[in-house]
Amino acid sequence: MTTETFEFQVEARQLLQLMIHSVYSNKDVFLRELVSNASDALDKLRLATLRDDAPDADVSDLHIELEVDKDARTLTVRDNGIGMSYDEVTRLIGTIANSGTAKFLEELREAKDAAGADGLIGQFGVGFYSGFMVADEVTLVTRHAGETEGTRWTSRGEGTYTLERIGEAPQGTAVTLHLKPADAENQLHDYTSAWKIKEIVKRYSDFITWPVRLLPEPGKDGDGSDGDGAEAREAETLNSMKALWARPRDEVSDEEYHELYKHIAHDWRDPLETIRLQAEGTFEYQALLFVPSHAPHDLFTQGYQRGVQLYVKRVFIMDDCEELLPPYLRFVKGVVDAQDLSLNVSREILQQDRHIRMIQRRLTKKVLSTVKDLRTSAPDRYATFWREFGAVLKEGLVTDSDNRDAILAACSFASTHDAEEPTALKDYVERMKDGQDDIYYMTGESRQAIENSPHMEAFRAKGVEVLLLTDAVDEVWVDAVGEYEGKTLRSVAKGEIDLSGTDEDKSEAEKEKQGEEYAGLLGWMTEHLGEEVKEVRLSSRLTVSPACVVSDAGDLTPALENMYRAMGQ
Ligand code: ADP
Ligand code: MG
Repeated sequence: MTTETFEFQVEARQLLQLMIHSVYSNKDVFLRELVSNASDALDKLRLATLRDDAPDADVSDLHIELEVDKDARTLTVRDNGIGMSYDEVTRLIGTIANSGTAKFLEELREAKDAAGADGLIGQFGVGFYSGFMVADEVTLVTRHAGETEGTRWTSRGEGTYTLERIGEAPQGTAVTLHLKPADAENQLHDYTSAWKIKEIVKRYSDFITWPVRLLPEPGKDGDGSDGDGAEAREAETLNSMKALWARPRDEVSDEEYHELYKHIAHDWRDPLETIRLQAEGTFEYQALLFVPSHAPHDLFTQGYQRGVQLYVKRVFIMDDCEELLPPYLRFVKGVVDAQDLSLNVSREILQQDRHIRMIQRRLTKKVLSTVKDLRTSAPDRYATFWREFGAVLKEGLVTDSDNRDAILAACSFASTHDAEEPTALKDYVERMKDGQDDIYYMTGESRQAIENSPHMEAFRAKGVEVLLLTDAVDEVWVDAVGEYEGKTLRSVAKGEIDLSGTDEDKSEAEKEKQGEEYAGLLGWMTEHLGEEVKEVRLSSRLTVSPACVVSDAGDLTPALENMYRAMGQ
């Protein structure tokens, strides 16, 4: 069989360079990444057989195996899962699909010092490539379940990799790391030590639902004699495989929850919030949901894969189950384990299922109330939440009228009241002036653009608070929601605004007199501006600027168009 040499895609090459020369202090996580990939591969195979997509696959003993060769200084992570075809290896291992990579590399170049790079690697995560933090050569041998031919991939991480079709290969994937000699002397980085490997697996991969086994070292049988230690050389299972969502809360540490989050979300950062939910009774299920600490870069694109993992009685059924959460909570990650669904439940069935809808309603309420509580219990984390996900959450004000109040209670809005802190509607209402009946807002590109608008002058002069709405979705929800606690949401830029109730404004008689005085001028202006305007009228909204353009309530704006585009409509 011939061996062909290929070049890595440019981004992949840069990432690899980074891994090779990594100063990342926590190298241990490479094993978490490889075990996580192996676990995904086993899940995929299990799923394929449930759907009869892999009739020839062997699913008799699905597991992950770790093997150390101290003399050769290699560590192998092996699974008998779905494997990869030759083409898949080129597509998945030779290139980087993650479109956030370019941005990541950019940031990395800017963060020239080692400490900066360390933090960034920890945030970004590099999956398979993290192996190059500890190895100077990586070999991957794989065979797709059901296929006859295997593939061998090898690279030293230096710009090229080789590919070779091989006749014989066990089903699944084996990744062999040729460990760096430099780490040999360092006990902290001795990845040939059984003790070290056990510790890492326990810390990062304990909840993995497949057994992670450590093979015994050949020739090491305790008493020093040769060959008679066979029974002592059983592979040892290192992880407890206990589903975290099924364990009592006080038995599980935050760290354990966070590791599960990293595995399912493919994120290297801790989540912002962990939400647990147990339902007993006729339809039993457990849910473990996570609010990430950062919005993914593709949250507003059509390709974004939303949804949580669905398990049935501890068996993984699918990733990205969309039916369990509404689109405006698409940033939430996690697991739902339902006891009474069939193992071969399909998307079509899920869409119809009454129980699934019930779960969705319950999860939605729970997420919303968690966010609302966060506002008071942990204002810093709430601020992070709002910065990252506020714009998505507000979509729910338009699409989910049943939960509108709960969503509003979880929302914040920038306001003229405070230059930094956004406000809850509830607090706005408490601050309303005597005689003020409406909640005022203005939409625009940015806070600054809005504050410079002539529409704001009268409000500033009279000290009437205005909400400053700068997300595209704001245009839509204010119309859909219309009012809050009986107070109309009113744009300061649309229609007539009457602030006379808020202070000792001009009397009606005075206004009438002014109207007569300026009637000639207004008539003349209306005539000369012709088609450009509907009407020219006297206004009490300005204090400095001589004139401003006002649109009628109900007119569309460019921001709206942008939003529909962002939502893919
Ligand atoms: P991620 O896991 O976030 O997708 P990785 O860099 O860890 O990114 O892996 C890239 C891809 O390579 C995976 O999505 C998967 O398709 C494939 N892959 C990696 N390891 C395995 C494996 N052990 N078995 C099958 N496919 C794998
Ligand atoms: Mg991975």
